Amino acid sequence: MVNKKVYKTDTLLGHLGRDPAANHGVVNPPVYHASTLLSGTLAAFRDKRRDPFDKGHTSYGRMGTPTTFALEDAAAGLDGGYGAIATPNGMAAIVGAVSAFVAQGDHILVSDSVYQPNRRFCEDFLARMGVETTFYDPRIGAGITQLMRPKTKVIFLESPGSHSFEVQDVPAIAAAARAGGAVSIIDNSWATPLYFRPFSHGVDISVYAATKYIVGHADAMMGLIVTGEAHYRRVRRNTAVLGYSAAPDDVYLALRGLRTLSVRLARHQETGFTLARWLQGRPEVARVLHPGLPGDPGHEIWRRDFAGASGLFGVVFTPCSEAALAAFIDGLELFGLGASWGGYESLVMPSDITASRSATTWDEPGPTLRIHAGLEDPEDLIADLAAGLARMTKAKAQPTGASP
Ligand SMILES: *Cc1c(COP(=O)(O)O)cnc(C)c1O
Repeated sequence: MVNKKVYKTDTLLGHLGRDPAANHGVVNPPVYHASTLLSGTLAAFRDKRRDPFDKGHTSYGRMGTPTTFALEDAAAGLDGGYGAIATPNGMAAIVGAVSAFVAQGDHILVSDSVYQPNRRFCEDFLARMGVETTFYDPRIGAGITQLMRPKTKVIFLESPGSHSFEVQDVPAIAAAARAGGAVSIIDNSWATPLYFRPFSHGVDISVYAATKYIVGHADAMMGLIVTGEAHYRRVRRNTAVLGYSAAPDDVYLALRGLRTLSVRLARHQETGFTLARWLQGRPEVARVLHPGLPGDPGHEIWRRDFAGASGLFGVVFTPCSEAALAAFIDGLELFGLGASWGGYESLVMPSDITASRSATTWDEPGPTLRIHAGLEDPEDLIADLAAGLARMTKAKAQPTGASP
């Protein structure tokens, strides 16, 4: 097996989580489909069940198979964590991590820019279980200390937010969490372990919608939780209690996606910058939300803490009607209209940021569109966007209420 300390990330991507010598020389780990795992003797059976929350434990399919452990080892190695836990999707990774640390009467702090279903988990489920959530301004930085209470058990971060793209001062917030005895958990799906390293910035636990860039091909759902040694067993035990298990074919797809993450992400980054800069120069655009662009409110922290930007960013149009926005979106040939991101294909999706805010307000008067830059030729993508803006301008010139 590969010594994680010696090699650089691109090398690790090709070598973590596989052991051909243990598998007839086959390069990739096999896909084990399993529920029952047999034991040869009573002693072996008892031994297997001695520690069900150990890393790489195999006494029953729900706890994982060597296929699952291959993905988990690779994810932990990449992030520099002690261990990883594969979950059926990214939302399960969030729930599995947060719920491991809270009980009735506790309090958590969650960024106001957080993935919307995560907000719903706090407001619906955690509230019903007697856990109180305070949403905080994503740009609060060290000021988060003022919001901490004796019962604050978790500080949840997401940087940048996946619709509004505020960059958080992660080291300051993680340090405040540690000083106040809370666990810091970050949703690192946007940057992946390649462009942001949670553990070197003081965070305790990272969670991933591996569905996005890690799977990378829009064909499977997967989540990952990566922890240091101090929190590993507690989270592993909790995800087992919740009944989470990731399906073997999807685990295989996630591991396969991981092998090419570096080359894909570099291209997503480059095309994302190209489209964002082009949009910045257009009169129909009020603002581009991309922390990699100089002048973006998050740019300085992004430059300090991140090694790159992925291909997901936002664009705020100058105020226009729903019909004008529809004229832009509906005729796009290359950009699909849909949720999710991180696949090889370009996407757009309207963002409704105002509706998922409570600690802060979103004051942009025009509509916001989220763009995922796929792996297509950037010139073709720009032509598609240009044609869309021409349709939008034409629709704006039409008197409102005019029949077609
Ligand atoms: C998609 C997404 C998730 C949830 O991942 P699923 O695999 O879809 O459950 C979590 N966080 C962010 C930022 C996401 O974009």
